Formats: sequence, C-alpha cells, structure tokens
Amino acid sequence: MSGLTSTDRASGMTRRSGLGPVLLVLDHDRRSLDALLSSLSRRFGSDFTVTGETSPQAALRALEEMAAAGEQVALLLVDELASDFLDRAHQLHPSAKRVFLVDRDYRSASPAVQAMALGRVDYHVVRPWADDETLYRAMSEYLASWRREQEPMFEEFRIVAAEGDSRALQLRDVMTRFSMPFGLYPSDSEDGRRLLEEAGLDATRLPVVIRYDGQVSVDPSLPDLARAIGVNVNNDLDWCDVAIVGAGPAGLAAAVYAASEGLETVLLELAVSGGQAGTSPLIRNYPGFPHGIEGGLLMERTCEQAWLMGAHIVFAQQAAALERRGDERVVRLRDGTEVRARAVVIATGIEWRRLGIPRVEALLGAGVFYGAAVSESRAMHDQDVFVVGAGNSAGQAALHLAKHARTVTLLVRGDSVAKSMSSYLVTAIESTPNVFIRHRTEVIDAAGHSALQSITLADRASGVVEDVPARALFVMIGGEPHTQWLPDEIARDEQGYVITGRAVLDQPEVEWNHHREPLTLETSMSGVFAAGDVRQDSIKRVASAVGDGATVIRLVHEHLRTHTAELTRSRA
Ligand SMILES: Cc1cc2nc3c(=O)[nH]c(=O)nc-3n(C[C@H](O)[C@H](O)[C@H](O)COP(=O)(O)OP(=O)(O)OC[C@H]3O[C@@H](n4cnc5c(N)ncnc54)[C@H](O)[C@@H]3O)c2cc1C
Repeated sequence: MSGLTSTDRASGMTRRSGLGPVLLVLDHDRRSLDALLSSLSRRFGSDFTVTGETSPQAALRALEEMAAAGEQVALLLVDELASDFLDRAHQLHPSAKRVFLVDRDYRSASPAVQAMALGRVDYHVVRPWADDETLYRAMSEYLASWRREQEPMFEEFRIVAAEGDSRALQLRDVMTRFSMPFGLYPSDSEDGRRLLEEAGLDATRLPVVIRYDGQVSVDPSLPDLARAIGVNVNNDLDWCDVAIVGAGPAGLAAAVYAASEGLETVLLELAVSGGQAGTSPLIRNYPGFPHGIEGGLLMERTCEQAWLMGAHIVFAQQAAALERRGDERVVRLRDGTEVRARAVVIATGIEWRRLGIPRVEALLGAGVFYGAAVSESRAMHDQDVFVVGAGNSAGQAALHLAKHARTVTLLVRGDSVAKSMSSYLVTAIESTPNVFIRHRTEVIDAAGHSALQSITLADRASGVVEDVPARALFVMIGGEPHTQWLPDEIARDEQGYVITGRAVLDQPEVEWNHHREPLTLETSMSGVFAAGDVRQDSIKRVASAVGDGATVIRLVHEHLRTHTAELTRSRA
C-alpha cells in the first residue's frame, strides 16, 4: 500500500497509511494532526504505517490493539507529556522511539528539558519547522536509530556462548563498537546447537564466533577477534613523528589533528577504539548533539575520521613501556615490538569504578550516571536523587544537585564521610536541609523500564533491604589512571595522574634542562605529552578530552620546532 493511501477508521479519528512498523502521532489539534499525517505518509508511508490520534486515551487504545496483534511500533510522536500516556505506551512498545513535539520555548522550565534528562523521551521536534525537509531529516535520524536497535537482517558474526558467560559480553562489546551486525545464541538453544554442529564443534569450548563466510574462532582472544573483524592489530611502522597511546576521545582527536596537519601518526590502542566514551549508551553533553549521541557511534566516526586523515591505527596492542633514546621517544609494545617517535602523546585515560550491577548498568544514561553527569542537575528539579560515594566529588555533586532536586541522599558504605571528604564539604552538607547521608548503605539493585524508577538499598549494619523510589543515581566511587606502564621519569601525583605544564617544575625529583619551560600539556619528559582524563586536574568530559587532543598537537608542533632550533644551536 502506498504512503498516500489512507483509510479512515470507523470513528473517523484515525488515518492509517502504508505498511510496516507503526509511526503513531498524538496531536491534540486535529488540523495539525492531519497536516502531520499527510507529510509523514508522503515520505515514510512506503516503509511504515503512519497513523494518528487526537487524544491520549484513543492513542493508548490503538497502541493496546497493536500490542495485542503483535504489530511493531517504531516511533511515537507526541505533543502530550503530562499524563502517564508515555509511560504506558512505553510499557506496551518498549523499543519505540519517543519523540516530543514541542513549541519553541528555550525556558529551562520547559517540560522537554526534564523529560529528556530523565529518559522519558528520546528526541524532540520543535515546531513550527521551516519546511518538510527539516521534519524529514529529523525523523529519518530517529527511525534509523530505531532500526539500529532491531535484530539485524544479516548477521556478519554469530556468537554461540553459555548463558551468563562474561566473555560473551566482551565479544558483544567489541562487535557493537565496530558496528558489526551479529547474533548471540545460547549454546543450549536449538539454534546454538545447530550452529555448533554445522561448524563441526560441540559445546566443550565456548564461546565460539562464526563469521558469515564460515570462518570459526573458538574462545578468541581480542587480537583474534579484531583480525576476524578486519582491523589492523600489527604495527608495521617502526618510526613516526608522533605516537599516540590510547584511542579514547583524547587520543582519537589528537590523531585526527596530527594526521590532518601532516604528521606521520601512529595510534596505539590496548583494546578497540572509544575508551570510556565508547561504553556510554548516550552522551548528552557533547556539543552539537541536542538529543545526545551513542558514545560508540561518536567514537567510531572519530576513528574513521582519523584513519581517513592518514593516521596508522593499531588495535589490541598495549603500550608496555616508554623510554627516551637520544632525541627519540620509544614506545615498547606488549608483543615485543617498538615504535620510535619524535613526540609521544599519552592518552590512556582512567578506569571508573563501576557498580557492576546488571540492572543498574542497563539504565546508564536513563537515570544512572557515572562521574561526569552533574550537568544533568537542573533537570533534577523536584526529584528524589541519590549519589553513591564518600569522596569530594560525591560531596560536590550532592550540593550541586541539592539546588534543584527535592532531596539528595548520599549513599556511603562506611560509618562516616569525615575521612574521605574535605571538612568544608561535610559542613556544607550538614547545613543543607535537603541533603541526607545514609551510612553503611549499598545499592544492590535497580528497577525501571526505560528510565530509573527505584533502587534497592541494603543496610550493612542491620541487614535491612528496601526499595526506594529514585529518579536518578549518580555513581562517584573514584577511578584509577592507566599510568602503571610509564617510567618514573614521568612525574605523577599520589593518585597516579600525569603532571603536566609548569607544575612539572614544582616536583623535587624532576630535572628539566631545556631552554624553555614545559609546554602546557607536556610531561616531565620533554617531547612526551598527556591529554584527557589521564592528566592531573583534567575535567573528565568527552568534550574536554577532545579539546586536549586538539590542543596537544599544536604543542607537539611547537616542541618539534623548538627542538630542531635547540639541535641547530648545539651543533653550531
Ligand atoms: C559509563 C560512562 C559514561 C560517561 N558519560 C559521559 C558523558 O555523558 N559525558 C561526558 O562528557 N563524559 C562522560 N564520561 C566520561 C568520558 O567518557 C571521559 O571523560 C572520556 O572518555 C575521557 O577520554 P580519554 O581519551 O582521556 O580517556 P579514555 O576514554 O579512558 O580512553 C583511554 C583509552 O586508552 C586505552 N589504553 C589504556 N592504557 C593503554 C595502554 N597501556 N596501551 C594502549 N592503550 C591504552 C584504553 O583502552 C582506552 O581506550 C563517561 C564515562 C563513563 C565511564
């Protein structure tokens, strides 16, 4: 059926056009609904069933009928947030993208602001729009995002694994980071057994990865898997202008700028590209993406950009040591090879400690935030929120959130925060009436369909376990920089973060014998720089890591220029 064909229902309220998954519009204004339906049918009617209602009750009835008939709903475009319509609609069709049709407003109190932050809607469309193409572009993007989350039509890889095997999760992470269409089959399922049999294997050694062309890898290592995907895991360049270690946002951005500015660039990554950002289901505060962007997608695009600019990217290669050899800086890799470089950028980031509770992790970005999400605080207006942690960052976050939230509860494992938190913060918390501390308390579970609704707390002293309603959970239990592989000559603070810039000169053990001071992001070994989270006092955001990555290459140029001048002077 073509998109232009429409059949009014007996009620005369609903028009349906097209075939395929449903795109449902709820617009209280009949004329506006009609105009929307005819625009959307024109563009999407051949692939989707476009339909609409003017009341939430009628829309819910329609959605219930669709759920009962097993019809797939791809997208809900709604001008109504107030009732529990969206929550109910989401229960019926959890994979449907929820788009809020909102009038241009730009007030911080706009319902769109809170709904986005709390994960009650996925996207918004501001009306009026200049022309239909503007609407189509936005809707195409949202529908593409829905498509990406559906079972792939073609599976490039099939993974057969035992239920609950953590190695299967790692394989899935790698596949997702490279946007590989794949399927995961439990080894005791009919399909799993059939796949193993076809590959001539049994379930004694799992997981098994089967490529579309029949190539089979049994319990593959990361390099095996990277090779099967087709990415480079060998470094065949032993010399370069700049070696960048770590392919998170800082390292990838540095690679884009270095390669695009004509430097021979090698980027070395221990695993696959993306770093912490690649694990984030939704980065909401990266400029230019008002609805947020999947961390993996943002990083994959940046990786492709670095490659197309000419960077030589090597995955599954861990930097194991760094040394100075005359004018060169040498990075030694775990496989025994080395890369000689005129300059090195350390962009190895940190490892945030995670709660590791599956249902909590599943709600990341939808009410659960690690570390860097205080930017969400305004959206916490009048909500009950929780912060896990007892350090200064947790204390600061609690006070910041208290400006907007109804209550903020700090969940602390120990008996007191006095040892781990600065006293000024403890005093400030004590004098803020809507901040509470629960000692000896741990989060042990969470609940919520698409957004966090409650958390389960265990009181370690009394053994009491209770579910409490929660709109947001901020986890701030610290992180550790990846700097163990660096030589002592690279000065670090007590937590292991790399010290850069003028602060290097304040370190008693540092000998700095150069005609210039250390450059802003330069470490205590001249010609070696640090960018992103690994650096002392870094901001710990994707955008700031990217900013460091761009800045550091400008400094690498400056180092190379002054170094050449120094050499010329010393030879004269
Ligand atoms: C779950 C989660 C959600 C987040 N959400 C947001 C958000 O919404 N907004 C925001 O602004 N920030 C967010 N952050 C923080 C943000 O992701 C980080 O600040 C950012 O990724 C730091 O970038 P980086 O490049 O400095 O380090 P990382 O992202 O940590 O990347 C470092 C890379 O170096 C590699 N590496 C480490 N050691 C070696 C070695 N020896 N050899 C080779 N490679 C090595 C690692 O494998 C890694 O790929 C989030 C973080 C997490 C964990």
